[in-house]
Amino acid sequence: MPVSATPRVLVIPDGLAERPSGNDDPPTTLDVIRPLALDALARRGAVRRVAVTPDGLHAGSETGLPVLFGWTPTATVSRGRIEAAAHGIDIEHDDGTGDAVHRVDVRHADGRPWPELAAAAFDRLTAANPAHAVHRLAGHRLLAIGAREPTLPLLDGLEGADDPGDPPCLKLWADGEVPPPLLDDRTVVVCAPRSTAAGIARLMGAETVHPTGATGRPGTDVAAKARAAVALMRDGTPTVVVHVGSPDEAAHDHDPQAKQLEAQRIDRDLLAPLAGVAMDLGSLLAVCPDHGTDPRTGRHVADPVPAVLWGPGVPRRGPDSLRERLVAREPVVATPWTIA
Ligand SMILES: [Zn+2]
Repeated sequence: MPVSATPRVLVIPDGLAERPSGNDDPPTTLDVIRPLALDALARRGAVRRVAVTPDGLHAGSETGLPVLFGWTPTATVSRGRIEAAAHGIDIEHDDGTGDAVHRVDVRHADGRPWPELAAAAFDRLTAANPAHAVHRLAGHRLLAIGAREPTLPLLDGLEGADDPGDPPCLKLWADGEVPPPLLDDRTVVVCAPRSTAAGIARLMGAETVHPTGATGRPGTDVAAKARAAVALMRDGTPTVVVHVGSPDEAAHDHDPQAKQLEAQRIDRDLLAPLAGVAMDLGSLLAVCPDHGTDPRTGRHVADPVPAVLWGPGVPRRGPDSLRERLVAREPVVATPWTIA
């Protein structure tokens, strides 16, 4: 992000947005909850949409977070290199390994993660790729580093995968673009350890802070993130970013109620205290998801996301709420900091 004279804080509720609901559609998360702090920001700030997913790219944090951090990818971003950075795994070797870095997920056939099979799948992937460095990451995630794309073994006959109608499979994430080091320690990202946000922040050169209790999952300690962000703001950090992964995770779990609960906790335990401190310090405060995630399908949504910017010099504009239906005809801007 470019240097700004006014200190600023950006809150990224991962996957919070959804498609605007029509009259016959079930309401979105933002339709259902009554977010006091977010609505107060909307009534006082500039409400519009931000284009977080460039045309032709898949919606996801590997795309949307770099855009929000100030770099727009032109092709698929490498999940493998983000994971390596998040986990502190070295991919540089003299023998050609590191030319191809791939995240590999262990999944049900319908795409749901299958973390219980990760240990056995790790053994199969390692055996099938003796020249690769294979790592086991959290949950259902593996990482393969080598001179070329890894060979994906079949997962037939694994204990715990006895239902022929539900065969386990491996999904290879394409290697691709790497977010460049455009940032420095004037940007601090508060996020869960080993998260996608942590990996992207490190690749781009920002500092990262991981409060105890920040998990990236539903139930994550949002208040701990707020305390960390407030301390950074009061210390004079020019740009503070707070990433909360739980709305996206709840949506991938196909759990609309859990997503609503996480959105309410972000409003009450994060946005409310940050708004007070931003008012005290004269900071800009932006709230902008990195993409949408539909809790009924579990899938990401590439539409421009509702966002609000509030603070010194920002004229009030747009609707009184970030509800997708109300924001649907608002202008689309390139960054959460654009004043338009
Ligand atoms: Zn997601």
